[in-house]
Amino acid sequence: MTSDIRKYLRLRESMVKNQIEARGITDPKVLAAMRKVPRHLFVSEALMDQAYTDGPLSIGEYQTISQPYIVAHMTQSLELGKDDRVLEIGTGSGYQAAILSQIVFRVYTIETIRSLHMQSRRLFDELNYSNIVTRYGDGTLGWKDESPFDAIIVTAGAPEIPEPLVDQLAIGGRMVLPVGGRLSQEMVKLTKDQNGVVHQSKHGGCRFVKLVGDYGWEK
Ligand code: SAH
Repeated sequence: MTSDIRKYLRLRESMVKNQIEARGITDPKVLAAMRKVPRHLFVSEALMDQAYTDGPLSIGEYQTISQPYIVAHMTQSLELGKDDRVLEIGTGSGYQAAILSQIVFRVYTIETIRSLHMQSRRLFDELNYSNIVTRYGDGTLGWKDESPFDAIIVTAGAPEIPEPLVDQLAIGGRMVLPVGGRLSQEMVKLTKDQNGVVHQSKHGGCRFVKLVGDYGWEK
């Protein structure tokens, strides 16, 4: 057991060095979180030894946990501070939410597949990630009662930017999400300035599973 912990610690360290730092991620908070969160616990036992490799992995229900570099890149581009409240759409395995929870005050995460929602909730409790609040439902509608959010991250590909999420972004807030077709998308970043005006920039191609819901793809 102890040797397993050491093995995964070693794999995690080399993931951060060779995949994350080597590709230009510099935010110390992001790097520390990636060094700390045990990614192998977010995949099935059969995939644990692959958890720190340079790619996405299956988490069942035809869904995937994103490649470590993508998680780091999206997290860094949210420009997070320790008092921030962050909304995530697409809990999946819970890995991205766990990374966020190490950096910010509170994470709100919504998942539309019940089994994934329940499994991630259990894991957050086991690992004592007490600042993650979970919800089962359609995340394209956001989480109005808890809005506005300092940052919003969508970890599934949207056909267009869900309007409710833009509405629920705080003044000064940042949002990142993949937008485009069913098979490939472009990473889009939105910022809401002090006057409430929204600015958009594009950050390269990517491939995510579909965002399904009222402001996403049809089921
Ligand atoms: N952040 C996740 C990645 C999960 S993949 C991780 O770290 O593992 C994307 C997830 O988005 C899938 O679990 C999928 O079921 C979920 N999803 C798709 N549409 C959704 C919606 N409208 N609301 C909430 N979750 C959604």
